[in-house]
Amino acid sequence: MKKNNYNNIDYDFINKIIEYTDIIDILSKYINLTKIGNNYFSICPFHKENNPSFIVNKSKKFYYCFGCKVYGNIINFLIFFKKKTFIEVVNELSSLNGIYINSNNIYKKKYNLYSESMKNINKLYIENLFNKFNFYKLSFFFIKKKWKLNVIKLFNIGYSSHLLINKFLKINKINLNILVNIGILKKKNNNYIDIFYNRLIFPIFDYINGNIIGFGGKNLYKKNLPKYINSSDSKIFKKKNCIYGLYQVKQIYNNNISKLLLVEGYTDVISLFNIGINYAVSSLGCNLTNDQIKILFNNTNELILCYDGDKSGFNSLYNLINKILLYLTDDRRISFIIMPKNEDPDSLLQKIKKEDFINIINSSIDIFDFIFKFYENNSNSFYNKINIINNLIKYIDLIPGKLMKFFFKKKICKKFNIDINELNSFLYKKNENYIYINKFINNPIRILIKFLLDKPELHKLIIIPSELKIINNYEMIIFLKIIFICYKYNINKNLLLFFKNYKYFNYLYKISKINILIKNDNNNKIFLHVLNKVYLLLYYNNYDNIIKKIKSIKLLNDIDKKYLIFLNKKILKLSKNFVL
Ligand SMILES: [Zn+2]
Repeated sequence: MKKNNYNNIDYDFINKIIEYTDIIDILSKYINLTKIGNNYFSICPFHKENNPSFIVNKSKKFYYCFGCKVYGNIINFLIFFKKKTFIEVVNELSSLNGIYINSNNIYKKKYNLYSESMKNINKLYIENLFNKFNFYKLSFFFIKKKWKLNVIKLFNIGYSSHLLINKFLKINKINLNILVNIGILKKKNNNYIDIFYNRLIFPIFDYINGNIIGFGGKNLYKKNLPKYINSSDSKIFKKKNCIYGLYQVKQIYNNNISKLLLVEGYTDVISLFNIGINYAVSSLGCNLTNDQIKILFNNTNELILCYDGDKSGFNSLYNLINKILLYLTDDRRISFIIMPKNEDPDSLLQKIKKEDFINIINSSIDIFDFIFKFYENNSNSFYNKINIINNLIKYIDLIPGKLMKFFFKKKICKKFNIDINELNSFLYKKNENYIYINKFINNPIRILIKFLLDKPELHKLIIIPSELKIINNYEMIIFLKIIFICYKYNINKNLLLFFKNYKYFNYLYKISKINILIKNDNNNKIFLHVLNKVYLLLYYNNYDNIIKKIKSIKLLNDIDKKYLIFLNKKILKLSKNFVL
């Protein structure tokens, strides 16, 4: 294993942190970056100068100064610029990205053990595919697909047949228990059964280091068996954060990938590579997850999604739009290509020429047009014009890029023949309730107390998450007391009277006299919204406490680590709904 001067923390872990962190995101907090071509420029923060000679490359994840020759990655930058210790930076970035700190290296050992076994078994799969008899047997398939040998080899495709299991048993480098754990073998009465028997094997690579972490198997013969199976999720393989083919694309483009074409299956990727479209990747046949989107945009700024209008259901598409818009910054491009009915790239490429497929890619439509199309296709009585505009306005809020937001607004206006001022006033109206509240009392706990004083039955909506560590400030204590009283006496009116002998009665009385104008039917919704905001603030507080702990003792126990990761996820999830 490669090691550098990072002492106890291993090289792969550091690489993972660098890989996951958006260097532009972090650096732009400290310096003024201007995008020119593929690079970002700035006045160098490490030496005095008038013209920018400090360059940052997003995809290669490094910075370099032509003036004073400093260079490095995000970790080096934070150490030198923020004067932090290495361990501080690593802790900070790993918690930012929710990456587990494996100081005891158990994970690392397990990873190596698993991936070593998979590497060895894949060697057998490949040998087995190129065995004369099998290759002859399989050639009908390769000829039909027109797959070239170099592409088959690039993806280390193999084959499992019934003689293979005897070989597993003979080679002591292969740990059979692991193969059972990851779902390649099944144990039955002291015998092993090969689950991938008679399947074409697609090894799945860790896109960061190229290790094999899982397998996909395509059924070639039997109609009553599932077409595709995957090895099961394991300590080192989570299907939901893998992108098939990304490792190969990264190798070809030397980590400088200008665009990625996302397709559904393994064979789509292979067939596309086969005709020279060597920037195709797959989400392993599942609905695109947030982790996958993040990985894709960590590696490229342009994403083309290949979408089959008949197969993808309304809900999955609706969810996809909601998810992916959150990543639409001004420097990114998202577009869609729509496949002809009942076709995927693999099946289509058996019928049409390479040039025709490239034309299809070139005629991709951008995400905004795709959204319009989506609603046109689904316009039943529920999705009338007003509802559509309402939904589109929700999308505007999701988009992080200012220019993108602007273009989308303009497009909506053009499409529905609305004036942009009208649209903006509509956007303003949507937030009016909250704005009105904020003018009077801007402390969210106070707002909740006000709500409860007016409508005590709202207490039934409160479920305090058990993982939340409550802070003991004045307002919080009162708030908890109110909830307690409401529950105990099942109060639904005159809550204030219950507190007439309490020392903070005056405080409550004052709040009760504040006027808040909220439409009646919105009460529950706004109450929950503010409640979530309180939770979020508390989670932030819990988070800060852990970071303080890291800074003082520089080591965390497992419970703290787990809690830190939990907090990261929770905060990310909750903060999507708020502008803090
Ligand atoms: Zn410099």
